[in-house]
Amino acid sequence: MEPAECAVCRASAANAAVEVARGLDFEYDTSDDTFSMVECQTCRTIYLNPRPTAEELARIYPHNYYSYNYSSRVNPLAIKIKDFLDKNKSKGWLKFCRTDNPRFLDIGCGNGRNLEILEKLGLSRQNLYGLEIKNETVDKLKERGFNAFLGAAEEAALQLKNEDPFDLIVILQVLEHVKDPDLVMKSLAHLLKPEAVLVVETPNVDSLDCNLFKKRYWGGYHFPRHWYLFNQESLAKLGAKAGLQVISVKYLPAQTFWIYSLHHIVKEKFSPKLAGALFDPFRNLFLLSVFTAFDILRAKLGFSTSNIQVVFQKSQS
Ligand SMILES: [Zn+2]
Repeated sequence: MEPAECAVCRASAANAAVEVARGLDFEYDTSDDTFSMVECQTCRTIYLNPRPTAEELARIYPHNYYSYNYSSRVNPLAIKIKDFLDKNKSKGWLKFCRTDNPRFLDIGCGNGRNLEILEKLGLSRQNLYGLEIKNETVDKLKERGFNAFLGAAEEAALQLKNEDPFDLIVILQVLEHVKDPDLVMKSLAHLLKPEAVLVVETPNVDSLDCNLFKKRYWGGYHFPRHWYLFNQESLAKLGAKAGLQVISVKYLPAQTFWIYSLHHIVKEKFSPKLAGALFDPFRNLFLLSVFTAFDILRAKLGFSTSNIQVVFQKSQS
């Protein structure tokens, strides 16, 4: 383990952080350690401190990690619904673009799902780029004709330095995993054309479920894999440091965090078997529907959910 600091305030606030949660790796049991989330008293960013070192990454992201086996783990009907929702979401991003065939980059693109969706929406393949940390995934994307690059989010500017700038960059459920979100935002801002947009999707700590399960069980902690957790204000502050202005904020459903929060309580207080059987966020279609509907309704009524989408625009010069 190694010490961490607030990525928004940096070392100036190193001492002004208080512990807000302690928990275990309730999902994958990759470690027996208890982990600690602290909150920066200046900007309210929550971060894992101390956190695993780079050598531990292979251990804390095991082979059965959900994003590596997405389609085999998730209920097929849930995948269909997610496809529909994601297609709508992508259409929403395009509305912020000033061109009909934008140059698009997905940070942490996985198997290229978003690239495929955007191609179906009419973007040409030569304008579709992805950055991904897994070697074999990058190779597969290249074989299929996408512009795939190997690297961590922090390395985006370096890996894509010879490419023309982008109209639209998205980083979805990735910023909370990275070692240095400040560097990532600056790196992505560098890759954007003037007035182009960056879409960030990440957990939000100013939410009902985070408050209900704050001390230990909240699914959004994802111990020990979520290293930085933001709210609307701290994200805006982070963007401003990279010369990015917030132009839109939206709250999206966070059904898996609700289900995981319940899973973690039942697992620790009653039985791991029962928790696994009742609260599998990838297979329990009933709970998925209930919490998705609940969060969509709450967002429509103006409440914040634990999944925030912020659209940033780069300044003119
Ligand atoms: Zn801070």
